[in-house]
Amino acid sequence: MKTDNKNKEFMANLKLFNEQIATMISNAGKILKKSDDKKEEAMNYAMVTFLKNYSQGFEVNMDNFKTVIHLYFISICNGFGIADNQMLRIGTGLYSPTNLINHSCEPSAMVIFNGKRQFIVSCRDIEPDEEITISYVDNGIKERLIRSQYLIDQYYFNCSCIRCLKQIQENTDKSELQLSQNLSEDLEQLNLQALQLEQEGQFKVSLDILLSLLETVKQGCYISQIQKEIYERITYLAVQLKDYKTASVFQNQLVDLCEILYLQKDHLPHPLMAMHYYQQGKLMSQRKKYDESVLALQKASSLISDYYGIKSKIDGKMIDEKLVNEVNENLLANIQLQQNKKNKSKDNQL
Ligand SMILES: [Zn+2]
Repeated sequence: MKTDNKNKEFMANLKLFNEQIATMISNAGKILKKSDDKKEEAMNYAMVTFLKNYSQGFEVNMDNFKTVIHLYFISICNGFGIADNQMLRIGTGLYSPTNLINHSCEPSAMVIFNGKRQFIVSCRDIEPDEEITISYVDNGIKERLIRSQYLIDQYYFNCSCIRCLKQIQENTDKSELQLSQNLSEDLEQLNLQALQLEQEGQFKVSLDILLSLLETVKQGCYISQIQKEIYERITYLAVQLKDYKTASVFQNQLVDLCEILYLQKDHLPHPLMAMHYYQQGKLMSQRKKYDESVLALQKASSLISDYYGIKSKIDGKMIDEKLVNEVNENLLANIQLQQNKKNKSKDNQL
């Protein structure tokens, strides 16, 4: 009997909770122009937290619902994606007071991590009294409309930074509207098929599909980020297949594209570029192209020092020193060999 009552009470509270949260989120959604996806996400999150807490004697009342929703919005608006030494995302963290730093699509600083420790590092000269800004969006996205939509969806504001204003003035939106950020339905099918095969370990078939997909994407009107993603996946698959020639060809194309997207005069490029250069250096050494390998490894190492400082020793964590030494030794040996050949042919001529 007691359990029955508790059940009834629980169901009644749950119903009330559902209604209240639905109204609250729907109102918030109207104000914030949030998408349906986001509302559902907020709803699910609130539900899970509610149920988890309820089972531990969490009192069901409006204040608690509000707290759940409030915390949810704080975490999605203020959380920083934490990256590991290989620039892979490993989690989300709340950092204060850096969560107060405003956004710009042309930021004056970048966010980097060493473990869980966060650093804000300038990526260009900052004038006295000039506001320090970071980018909440991948600033390699050239298209204003795409950056802008992301910022509205994720952070609920319309960006009016220098870069966006300049693009509005230049009236680039019209041409951007012709670009698609999603693959057409049939191409998306191909893409999913490639992903599925990759997960099943069928790297060769997956790679072939991506190669044909890339050709179609190159001829179509898509944002550069799609091409960038395909390059990354092709390189990954080729490395799995130990096909270093293909891997290096596409890694080079990836680096070329990223240099167009991320390199800006008098600015340090995005720290992610260090990983692209490092990967390029590794692949070039696999192909015994030691001069190109040294160049790429130097670029990676110097970018890491620029961000973390020479004394941080973090490039030791990011870059395999043994590899760098090997490449340097091989390069020297090659130069020596060529010198010897030259000398020999000179001797023969004499
Ligand atoms: Zn902007």
